[in-house]
Amino acid sequence: MVTRPAASPIPSESPLPLREGARGRGLHASACEESLSSAASGSARLAPWSAQAETTPSPYPPPAGGGGTQKEAAEELRQRAWNAASTVVDPEIPVLTIADLGILRDVAVHDGRVEVAITPTYSGCPAMSMIGLEIELALEQAGIAGARVRTVLSPAWTTAWMTAEGRRKLAEYGVVPPQEGGGRRALFGEDTLPCPRCGSVHTERLSEFGSTSCKALWRCTDCREPFDYFKCH
Ligand SMILES: [Zn+2]
Repeated sequence: MVTRPAASPIPSESPLPLREGARGRGLHASACEESLSSAASGSARLAPWSAQAETTPSPYPPPAGGGGTQKEAAEELRQRAWNAASTVVDPEIPVLTIADLGILRDVAVHDGRVEVAITPTYSGCPAMSMIGLEIELALEQAGIAGARVRTVLSPAWTTAWMTAEGRRKLAEYGVVPPQEGGGRRALFGEDTLPCPRCGSVHTERLSEFGSTSCKALWRCTDCREPFDYFKCH
């Protein structure tokens, strides 16, 4: 009884071959628990005064702070970094966050350091360096210093990465969200876009470039209202 606490942690922690190890450890643990519980109940029945001695030493030491807790800490940091980074808005369309747009591709933790991957909506998008700075700032405010922001150009950003929430916000903002499939044709005026104000399909493209180069300028011929169309890529 007294010698078991010292002996038992060694086989349970030894890195045995995966499947055999897991099975062996399970058998070992259950066998130990069985003999322990029967011994404890037996001794309790035999000599009530020895119960106090039984409770003082724990037969199993608490698990040492190993890889598991470190992994959990990294995941907690990754989640916190993602939450902070995803609050950053697109400087050209401030109602949309970079998460809404699908610009925020990945947040990872390597050796305790946060790495954020972003993909610009189009190559040479001038807003990207600003977005990178905004991410670093947001992370610092969340208590995460020394993060690295890298730009990933391949695969290229596509409007399909925009979330449903992003499309809804864009429409509310008065910009027609990219149309599935027909975007490229709409861009060149071969397709029709519904007017975001009156819903009329009598619309025309005025300019390939709207308020920013990401958007095209359209106009409704019924209500005469001009509107932006977020171009597909
Ligand atoms: Zn209209």
